[in-house]
Amino acid sequence: CTPGGPKVSEEKILVTVRMRPLNRKEQAMYDLIAWDCIDDQKIVFKNPNHERPTIPYTFDKVFEPACSTQKVYEEGAKDVALSALTGINATIFAYGQTGSGKTFTMRGISENAIKDIYEHIKNNQERDFVLKISALEIYNETVVDLLNRESSSLRLLDDPEKGTIVEKLVEEVVQDSQHLRHLIGICEAQRQVGETALNDNSSRSHQIIRLTIESSLRENSGRVKSFLASLNLVDLAGSERASQTNADGIRLKEGSHINRSLLTLTTVIRKLSGGKRSSHIPYRDSKLTRILQHSLGGNARTAIICTISPSLSHVEQTRNTLSFASSAK
Ligand code: ADP
Ligand code: MG
Repeated sequence: CTPGGPKVSEEKILVTVRMRPLNRKEQAMYDLIAWDCIDDQKIVFKNPNHERPTIPYTFDKVFEPACSTQKVYEEGAKDVALSALTGINATIFAYGQTGSGKTFTMRGISENAIKDIYEHIKNNQERDFVLKISALEIYNETVVDLLNRESSSLRLLDDPEKGTIVEKLVEEVVQDSQHLRHLIGICEAQRQVGETALNDNSSRSHQIIRLTIESSLRENSGRVKSFLASLNLVDLAGSERASQTNADGIRLKEGSHINRSLLTLTTVIRKLSGGKRSSHIPYRDSKLTRILQHSLGGNARTAIICTISPSLSHVEQTRNTLSFASSAK
């Protein structure tokens, strides 16, 4: 895991790739590692037949299996996350097939971001900070509150000032970092309940943890200089749910396989990164993109961490992920 490399923090959409290690089961089956991280920005398919060389994919950063989550955070998420402290909305996604390490990575990202946010608050005593948290899950275009067990399907409303809001979504004021970790723990437990009730829920559902950070500073003139922004930590449904076509290129009829929010998100990201911000961006086509609209376009920064499996048996899904990642650049 080499340190340094080009500074990537100023990119609008930061796109990185993290390859997890082979797991025990894969090792026991003598599964092969199909990908080579050539350097900290390039990854290439190791052609087992060496017939012809394959073309490497290039990203802002590529994290090889030995890279720690700390490093993934520092180089793939930190600057975006901390922009929420200065009034710029921030969104960090983990995108990848089920089992590739999305939840593992997002937990580490959250943990590191919490540490840094509270460090920043400690070092900026002249400002008053108010942190709030809300958390939701989108399953089959149904929104549920992860901080309120009693909640059933929540409606989205259009507010002329705030944009899309989730009706009745609980928002808790956070006392300190310990309280924040406790609340995130509740969200995770709540998501697990869904997972047990609905077979394999986490591969189909999206989880958003939203921290809203408000701070104000009274200047000598008496004027109040304030910041307000949210940091969205998003653990997406498995990217296999974005597969729109089968091997023959025919659209699958089986509705449950296609995830409207995930498909719309990939379209929105492609359009945003295509630089045509004036062209129609279909935020309104799904719940996920409606909820995140103001944290994706406009005064916002985005980091996408694409998680991949190293294994030869997952090559097709990994290719799909890398091709999405390339189009997000
Ligand atoms: P996903 O959320 O994408 O379905 P998970 O985050 O649940 O995948 O990861 C699947 C398994 O692989 C988990 O047991 C997790 O602990 C492990 N894992 C994922 N990424 C890594 C990593 N970078 N290093 C070590 N173990 C990992
Ligand atoms: Mg997961």
